[in-house]
Amino acid sequence: MNQNKEKNKVLSKAREEQKQFVAKAKINATVDPTKAINLEDKIELDRREAYIEPNTRDLLRIMLQYGDNNSISPIYSSGLGYIYQIEDRVCKGEINTLSKDLLLNLAKLDILTKSFADSVASCPNCESIILTFHNRCPKCKSHNIDKSSLTEHIPCGLIEQREKYVNDRCPKCGEFLVEGKYRNMGRWYVCQSCEDRFENPAYDLICHNCNTTFTIKESTIKEIPKFSLNPKRKKEIRQNVASLEDIKMLLSELGFSIEIPGLATGLKSGMQHHFSLIAKKLVNNHEVVIALDHATSESEVQVSPLILYIYKTSEVKVDIPIFIAIPNLNETAKKIAQGHEILVIEGLTEEINELAHIKAEIGKRLDEINEKIALATIVKPENKPGKSFFGKIKGITMKAAKENVDNSQQDSPTTSSSGQEST
Ligand SMILES: [Zn+2]
Ligand SMILES: [Zn+2]
Ligand SMILES: [Zn+2]
Repeated sequence: MNQNKEKNKVLSKAREEQKQFVAKAKINATVDPTKAINLEDKIELDRREAYIEPNTRDLLRIMLQYGDNNSISPIYSSGLGYIYQIEDRVCKGEINTLSKDLLLNLAKLDILTKSFADSVASCPNCESIILTFHNRCPKCKSHNIDKSSLTEHIPCGLIEQREKYVNDRCPKCGEFLVEGKYRNMGRWYVCQSCEDRFENPAYDLICHNCNTTFTIKESTIKEIPKFSLNPKRKKEIRQNVASLEDIKMLLSELGFSIEIPGLATGLKSGMQHHFSLIAKKLVNNHEVVIALDHATSESEVQVSPLILYIYKTSEVKVDIPIFIAIPNLNETAKKIAQGHEILVIEGLTEEINELAHIKAEIGKRLDEINEKIALATIVKPENKPGKSFFGKIKGITMKAAKENVDNSQQDSPTTSSSGQEST
């Protein structure tokens, strides 16, 4: 019975979550169809997006420099509380202060591991840890407390602060203090407001962020974590950060200017599409655009990230589409990629051979584009290619631009087009 109840509870909770997710996906879908994918893909996608986010990339790149000692521990900075910093070993002396939110988000995405470093008392009102600690008289609540040692004069029974026995004479009976006739009673607290004496004071904490006064019992506990690279994803992190870094180098060697991540506005939807990388280069007055997406998976990259990529490239100007799949792309996806003339890069780019191959492949495509441009110029000399009109409209593909020209001059030969989408 109870078990069934439990089961139902779990089931209905799962259903509720599913409903919420579908509702969310629907809302997102009206804004951005790329978001209408299942939950697992969503987390994968978030992680993939994190890998191309500049702050994250910088952080991961630096953390990788530290090998196994990549833990980032909290450092206390007066006035600020705990902060997180890491030094870039390559750019010597460059210390990066990291936002805790960024670190927490990366821990949520399973890229970093969060573990216990310390915990501190914090303000129950505002969570600040910029607190001061005050002794309080248990009787009159004054903070005007003195800490001193008390001495008992045994013959007359006076108990008084040590400094009141001026010149070792009892202030009550006037006798000198003689060995064995007085006794040290240890440290005591004396309230200067009500003169009460007590062994242990009460404590107040004052928050200097919001000025709240509260007792120790009322304070909240704030976890101060440390962060390190998730060892289970270290390979994936290296692949993501390193392979994009490699491609970036390669493309700049080829004379491209690079944006990571790359943003482009969709022609039909008007949506801003995010690519892992966009590279641009002027070839004979034509801007050649490379749009690259980078997908990773535990086993093999499935179709969905590729479909998303194709969707995005269908409505922005892309001359050389490149899709990186780590460790590799699934067979169906590979066929789809072939059909769209997408240059697929699989596995690590660490090997020089692989990089040389990519370079050669991009070079080949550049040559083809060059030829097409040359051909278009010869066939239609009256058309000024790279007219500012086309150049200014972001998202017009060279093919589309050419088709426009072709339509206006119906007798001219058409170049082969492979831009049609297989749906
Ligand atoms: Zn506070
Ligand atoms: Zn008092
Ligand atoms: Zn005395």
